Amino acid sequence: MQFNPRYPTLPARLYHMQQPLPLKGAKAGHFNAALAKELQWTAEEQQQWVEICSGQTTFKEFPALAMVYAGHQFGQWAGQLGDGRGLLIAQVLDTQQRTIDLHLKGAGATPYSRMGDGRAVLRSVIREYLAGHALNALGVPSSNAVGFTSSTQGVQREKLELGAMLLRTSDCHIRLGHFEWINQYQPELLPEFVQKCIEWHYPECLAAEQPVLAFATQVIQRTAVMIAKWQLVGFAHGVMNTDNLNLTGSTLDFGPYGFMERFRPNWINNHSDYQGRYTYQQQPSVAHWNLWVWLNNLIPLEQNPNQKEHWKQALAACLEYFEPTFLEHYKLGLCEKMGLPSFHKDSFDCATNFLRILQSEQLDYTQSFIRLQNKQYTKILDDCLDRRQWESFLAQYLQIREHQDTDALDAAMQQVNPHYILRNHMAQKAIEQAERDDFSEVERLFNLLSQPYIQQTALEKPEDLAPLPSDVPEVMVSCSS
Ligand code: AMP
Ligand code: MG
Repeated sequence: MQFNPRYPTLPARLYHMQQPLPLKGAKAGHFNAALAKELQWTAEEQQQWVEICSGQTTFKEFPALAMVYAGHQFGQWAGQLGDGRGLLIAQVLDTQQRTIDLHLKGAGATPYSRMGDGRAVLRSVIREYLAGHALNALGVPSSNAVGFTSSTQGVQREKLELGAMLLRTSDCHIRLGHFEWINQYQPELLPEFVQKCIEWHYPECLAAEQPVLAFATQVIQRTAVMIAKWQLVGFAHGVMNTDNLNLTGSTLDFGPYGFMERFRPNWINNHSDYQGRYTYQQQPSVAHWNLWVWLNNLIPLEQNPNQKEHWKQALAACLEYFEPTFLEHYKLGLCEKMGLPSFHKDSFDCATNFLRILQSEQLDYTQSFIRLQNKQYTKILDDCLDRRQWESFLAQYLQIREHQDTDALDAAMQQVNPHYILRNHMAQKAIEQAERDDFSEVERLFNLLSQPYIQQTALEKPEDLAPLPSDVPEVMVSCSS
């Protein structure tokens, strides 16, 4: 690996250096060899992946460290948080010379663990491993993972589970909550921290007339694009606290996430989210709220009292980019999924009519788009109770497509409508087998989800293509991980 240790150049108040604490009986879970190659792992490093992904081997080129941050959780100020069970163990250059963080999750307690044990369980590690991989393959900006290891060590959650570790990769582990921590506890560090964030993650903003405003606008726009992509693939993050959103608009911190099956915009995947703050349909407005909290943390950068009001207004103006950026990407993406021309005045209206049918008929989001793509109109109709609603939609749909280049529209549909998403019950089956030391289902899902836009009849199983029957209880996911 080619190390680029830049986070340790920040003031030492922002992290705590410590080594991982390995679990008993560490053993191989799954390894993403293609990603390791992208990260320029040598043959020797690849051979040692189990030791690296279980905290037994660390690197002299990088001092492992836990970052401190803060955050708003479920809308409330939560005070100091931080890496309570994960360590940044390296920053390395990938084949495209981008700096990528390697973060070992489940590596033991740190000064930021609060009441937690510093561990992660195999169940949540597999969920994070497969989801990061799935989102990357879907083209949604996200963390990923080089591999995970299991162990023989018990870790107490609602029941006793197996401890595990995940070696997560991300282009950025700096969270919106980092800025909140600095303002609350060490405000004099803010200018230097912001400067580094711009240099590392948005260097093109350095040349702008007002680099901080250009940076803020970019963060807001990238987050808006990420959320649009979540909505389009039906992904619900589940815990969009300010400490779980990063600075580069790439998905981070998978907990009680879910890929939506039957289309229910107010679906709550996270059973710890009693008020439905983080439902699928709330994601754009919650992201907007989180970014507003974040922008407030840039206000102190202007020290001159005469300029303060002007500076606040300039920052607030950056947030106005959120909605148009989100809508542009969402509308364009939805039209593509539908096979409708985005320039046609009725396309978006027609697409929302389709979504209304999915909602009222409780149809599967992913498979319904595949059926539309395959022109299996009668198959959809057969699942509809309200046939007239479907027929009027179809008439409108075919009319819009009548004088269009449907070959091009159909080809575009195939690029954006996945055959496979990670349904909760798919992950659950892989977890249950892995808990019995059989990782073959993880391997199957890993391969299947590597190419979600291509049908893989040899690999797929019927349960990959449909929600569980409605009389079977849903897989419950909560914050416990
Ligand atoms: P989350 O909502 O999972 O992103 O976690 C919120 C905070 O709790 C973060 O600071 C985590 O590092 C910390 N945390 C979560 N689980 C544990 C654990 N088992 N041990 C220590 N800290 C934890
Ligand atoms: Mg978190």
